[in-house]
Amino acid sequence: MEFCVLGTKAGGVPLVKKHSSATFLRLGAELVLFDCAEHTQVQLLRAGVSWAHINHIFISHLHGDHILGLPPLLSTMNGDRRTAPLHIYAPKGLEEYLRLGMRIMDVQPNFDLHFTTLEEGFSGELAQIRGCTVHTRMLEHRITSFGFRVQEEEQAHIDTEKLRVLGLESDKRIGIIKREGSITLEDGRTISLADIAAPPRKPRSFVYCGDTRVCDAVVELAKNATVMLHEATFDASMTEKAGERYHCTSHQAAEHAAKAGVERLFLTHFSVRYKSATPLIREARKVFPETFMAKELKLEKV
Ligand SMILES: [Zn+2]
Ligand SMILES: [Zn+2]
Repeated sequence: MEFCVLGTKAGGVPLVKKHSSATFLRLGAELVLFDCAEHTQVQLLRAGVSWAHINHIFISHLHGDHILGLPPLLSTMNGDRRTAPLHIYAPKGLEEYLRLGMRIMDVQPNFDLHFTTLEEGFSGELAQIRGCTVHTRMLEHRITSFGFRVQEEEQAHIDTEKLRVLGLESDKRIGIIKREGSITLEDGRTISLADIAAPPRKPRSFVYCGDTRVCDAVVELAKNATVMLHEATFDASMTEKAGERYHCTSHQAAEHAAKAGVERLFLTHFSVRYKSATPLIREARKVFPETFMAKELKLEKV
């Protein structure tokens, strides 16, 4: 599980070197996209990954700096003669916007577009993707905004050294042991999952917060998560403005992380007023030492 932030600035004002919100999470061979600002396609190219591997797109809210890359992305996918279905999860209004846009631009999708509309106040499970479950919670922003949690399911991991000792390293029946708990070999030995299992590892989880002001829902969504990617639009001197604009300061994001007990916090969505986000990170680290600055196009492990 790895993630890559494609854009770290807040708002839609164009800058040459900074981009608006979009992030992908790599789950095996699949890429899960969170938000899709203008220039997301170009950033995916720069990251060296293909949109052909995106099957699920989660949209936090409908402000332009989070969705304006969707019409061109869908148009390109269609031009590539994509046939795999695409699932989009978003607040009400996005399906209407995209279908109208496609009709006006004469884009007739040759793949199935499945929309899941996130109704006001919804919280719960949305999808199962490659051994992970995606949950959502509504946050608090000027318009309806959601956060998402990708939670790895608990899985038995196999210890290859134990397999070697038992002479089973290239045995095709390992899958049967994982599924059924044990097998009996031709020589009479019964091998159980406990005989070949590696020590259990804590399932990983990735939390993507959309735009939000301080709220309990963030803390509940991110409870004990491995990584939380959180907005930090302002610095602490602008706490009042952050509240009025339904955004967070880096200090408030760090408080969310500390309350939720996450392992690592990555900050993003910095106002373009800041030439450098370093002071915001420094401020957050006083509250939550495991705070890092999201860097565009940098692949990070979850
Ligand atoms: Zn935003
Ligand atoms: Zn917003």
